[in-house]
Amino acid sequence: MLKKISRMPVYIGMGSNIGNREENLRTACKRIIAIQGIQMMRCSRFYETVPIGGPLQPMFLNAVLGIKTVISPHKLLEQFQGIEILMGRTRTVKWGPRTIDIDILIYGDKIVDDDRLKIPHSLMHTRLFVLEPFVEIAPNVVHPGLQKTILHLYRELQTSLSVTA
Ligand code: ADP
Ligand code: MG
Repeated sequence: MLKKISRMPVYIGMGSNIGNREENLRTACKRIIAIQGIQMMRCSRFYETVPIGGPLQPMFLNAVLGIKTVISPHKLLEQFQGIEILMGRTRTVKWGPRTIDIDILIYGDKIVDDDRLKIPHSLMHTRLFVLEPFVEIAPNVVHPGLQKTILHLYRELQTSLSVTA
């Protein structure tokens, strides 16, 4: 008997701060949903954000994309790194400027923690530029490590940022 492969809801963070940022996000999105085994659910608006960490650099445009897929987490990472390279991304400075950054934020309720891949993304709950577009498309998704919804994490982060401001 054939085993039914289940499609997992996966959320992807994208960012760009070199070249035509809007076009870069659109191209990345098109390339992601063109991959066999991926179905598009929703893409957030594009948010202009201030760079965090790294050198002085231009403003980012960020978005979160929701897909359904049968592709494994590590295979997805490989595919996304392929798109980053195709789009001319070179890895130089940590947290430096880039044409495109594609991160896996959440993969269903899976937790992955090895040298190459950490899911949920280890810094996602500390980054407004991730949580703001994420909350727009999927406020009720639960972070499987922290056991809190994206909306909850977003509100918590907003509160802590306004306390420290
Ligand atoms: P960053 O996204 O933190 O600015 P990079 O895009 O250069 O940095 O990624 C550095 C490494 O992070 C990649 O080589 C990849 O193996 C690793 N990584 C770990 N977890 C993830 C994840 N959830 N999504 C994407 N990359 C990840
Ligand atoms: Mg990345």
